[in-house]
Amino acid sequence: MLPVNQAEQLILNLVQPLDVGQDGETLNLLDASGRILAEPIISSLDFPHWDNSAMDGYAVRYADVQGCAAETPVTLTIVEEIPAGYQPQKTIQPGQAARILTGSVMPSGADTIVIQEETQREGDRVTIFATPQPHAFVRDRGAYYQAGNPLLPAGLRLQAAEIAVLAAAQCAQVKVYRRPKVAILSTGSELVAIDQPLQPGQIVDSNQYALAALVAQAGAEPLLLGRVPDQPKALRAAIQEAIAVADMVLSSGGVSVGDYDYVDEILAALGATIHIRAVAIKPGKPLTVATFDRIGNTEQEVGNEIISPDSKTPTPNSRVLYFGLPGNPVSALVTCWRFGLPALRKLSGLPTPWEPEFVSARSLNTLKSDGKRESYLWGKLWLVNGEYEFEPAIGSYSSGNLINLAGTSGLAVIPVGETQILAGDRVQVLPIG
Ligand code: AMP
Ligand code: MG
Repeated sequence: MLPVNQAEQLILNLVQPLDVGQDGETLNLLDASGRILAEPIISSLDFPHWDNSAMDGYAVRYADVQGCAAETPVTLTIVEEIPAGYQPQKTIQPGQAARILTGSVMPSGADTIVIQEETQREGDRVTIFATPQPHAFVRDRGAYYQAGNPLLPAGLRLQAAEIAVLAAAQCAQVKVYRRPKVAILSTGSELVAIDQPLQPGQIVDSNQYALAALVAQAGAEPLLLGRVPDQPKALRAAIQEAIAVADMVLSSGGVSVGDYDYVDEILAALGATIHIRAVAIKPGKPLTVATFDRIGNTEQEVGNEIISPDSKTPTPNSRVLYFGLPGNPVSALVTCWRFGLPALRKLSGLPTPWEPEFVSARSLNTLKSDGKRESYLWGKLWLVNGEYEFEPAIGSYSSGNLINLAGTSGLAVIPVGETQILAGDRVQVLPIG
């Protein structure tokens, strides 16, 4: 049984990230939300694009207003109005000013903004009652970003803020990584579809739904391959299909030591390298991790024939990472949160760290473990006055109890060798969602 941190590193080392050359796609910016930039962005624009005013007021020459005060005001002649979107036509000469509005272009000759509140206007003349700081409220061209520098790095997930920057930089189309394809396969002769009447001994295949949601939330594309009974032939066909279409496979069930647990055997028969068969984690001990290496995405010689890849379907990664998750719904989700999501982050093109980031929280109740495996207890995590608190879920911590998993926002971790964490003590918690 592999310790959790060793399993984590081994899994991450097995992941082959998407490749910019093969796995990039160009999207309209509006379709790129949630996607990951495949190329660094460099803009040929300065930000701001031109010197402009940060306030509504008057553009002046500092020399003209130096020494202004309530008792010694200065009056200037307004030679131009500069609203938004207007290009100034005049150069401000000594004794002159321009009316200017926020964001508008600074006229040449002027170097300072006097805010409207410190002025009084009469016709084409403005009187100024206070001395501004030199260069006050002028935003210089290029103050925020200078053309030609790195604007956004590759590997960045595009959300509202990043999309705003790309739009401002006139990137109407962006090159992003394609979404990794994750095949989801449920094994077990007891499983039925969500809308089938339940016979004694049957249960709904809830894992398919849970894993599909998790994969989609991680920005990947779930491929639902359905349910397979515990029959070697059917399983073999289903696993073959999964590894042919996906970058990663999440199968659930059939990896334990039961008489009908065939997954490992079939993986080996299909030529997989099996790296992990069990991890010292609770819930989730029976966890199989395997890889299939494809011969390549280029032409292949099979027998005497040359087989070309189908150019219409995007070529999957040359390596398929296979997770044989325990069937138990709680175990399947916990192992996926702990190991599947980090692997998916690396596969997707995100930069390090791929490992989950734990937070230190104060446990509101006493947490117990048998001390033999690293235990993950689900519950609610929240911030109170800048400090995290963890409240374990109410009800049984049986891995068969999926009901009290609803509402989970954190998994508290009890390390191997520790049997309890007392109420009020600190515990490491993996935030969920
Ligand atoms: P297994 O790992 O195949 O021994 O399954 C362990 C437990 O999880 C059994 O009680 C199964 O009925 C249950 N289980 C397996 N697969 C699923 C699934 N897809 N959805 C819900 N429960 C499942
Ligand atoms: Mg089973």
